Amino acid sequence: MGEMVQNKQILLKEYISTGYPKESDMVTQVSKMSLNVPHGSHGIVVKNLYLSIDPFIRYRMSKSDRGYIDSYTPGQPIEVYGVAKVLDSGTPKFKKDDLVWGFTGMEEYSFITDADSLFKIEHTDVPLSYYTGLLGMPGMTAYAGFYEVAAPKKGEFVFVSSAFGAIGQLVGQFAKLLGCYVVGSAGSKEKVDLLKNKFGFDEAFNYKEEEDLTAALKRYFPDGIDVCFENVGGKMLDAVLVNMRPHGRIAACGMISQYNLEKPEGIHNLLDVITKRLRFEGFVVFDYYHLYPKFLELVLPYIKEGKIKYMEDTAEGLESAPAAVLGLFSGRNVGKQVVVVARE
Ligand code: NAP
Repeated sequence: MGEMVQNKQILLKEYISTGYPKESDMVTQVSKMSLNVPHGSHGIVVKNLYLSIDPFIRYRMSKSDRGYIDSYTPGQPIEVYGVAKVLDSGTPKFKKDDLVWGFTGMEEYSFITDADSLFKIEHTDVPLSYYTGLLGMPGMTAYAGFYEVAAPKKGEFVFVSSAFGAIGQLVGQFAKLLGCYVVGSAGSKEKVDLLKNKFGFDEAFNYKEEEDLTAALKRYFPDGIDVCFENVGGKMLDAVLVNMRPHGRIAACGMISQYNLEKPEGIHNLLDVITKRLRFEGFVVFDYYHLYPKFLELVLPYIKEGKIKYMEDTAEGLESAPAAVLGLFSGRNVGKQVVVVARE
């Protein structure tokens, strides 16, 4: 059995149907765990350092067979992306003390059977927590959705919804680096100011203060939108459709305004897809992970040269994770939501 430790874990209590998640949907337990990989297993045992709190967690708390990813199993630790240190390995891919990022558990230590899905962290001259966001799944999502799906060109007009989220802040900066005009929407004055003053967006607006989203977009895009990076869906998407230019592209990344609704809102302006010859393409980051080395090649120099900025919202301790999950849906997080479980 080898060395045993106490392992604090956060589990899904039971499936939730509709509505916002509550802290009481997640329960904490302490169980015993071996720090050694069982004989014959190709998995790895890790110590979790940083956990990424992402909107898909809500999605997986409901029982669904329509998703692109499995629902959680009640009574099991909640699966999240994270950065972890390898303590024992049953695969030649990783050795003790390697740092990795990928799917792990909302717990102090995890035994990961599917070690092949993890990425080894090769560049440690940036903060390790960046691999939960900027250099991890959200960063790859921004890269794939913007460059591969939206196929942007210099000088185009780009709109990013939920622009201060982990993904949105990066998409806007990619668009500026390419020479586009970029506008973002976010849910507070603080976020709007940061988008304009820290992240270099040309304009930003608080969607919560706009009575008419179609008019708001018209104000910022009198000549229309070429590329929309869509994170929100619902009323925002309806307003976007009206404001798109002919041959525009909508990269459908997420629909966070819909995840807690009993019934998804209808979209009324789909005719614009036809009349304007729009390309409206959904994508899932899993299909683009083969581009991760190319993504790093682009982004690491930008980070080191200070050409890409990044903001995290850090919650201390595993026990802060349930509240952090809820916070995503009220916009409490100012930047990428990270939970620090341990600092090595
Ligand atoms: P994030 O950093 O966690 O940001 C979540 C933000 O969404 C909140 O801070 C809040 O900011 C905003 N929000 C919450 N409820 C909202 C509502 N009802 N209407 C408008 N905005 C709302 O999110 P992220 O990681 O950047 O993810 C962005 C989107 O991408 C999500 O929809 C997510 O599901 C999706 N996603 C897709 C993929 C993929 O492969 N396609 C991968 C990862 C994530 P405000 O203060 O601005 O309201």
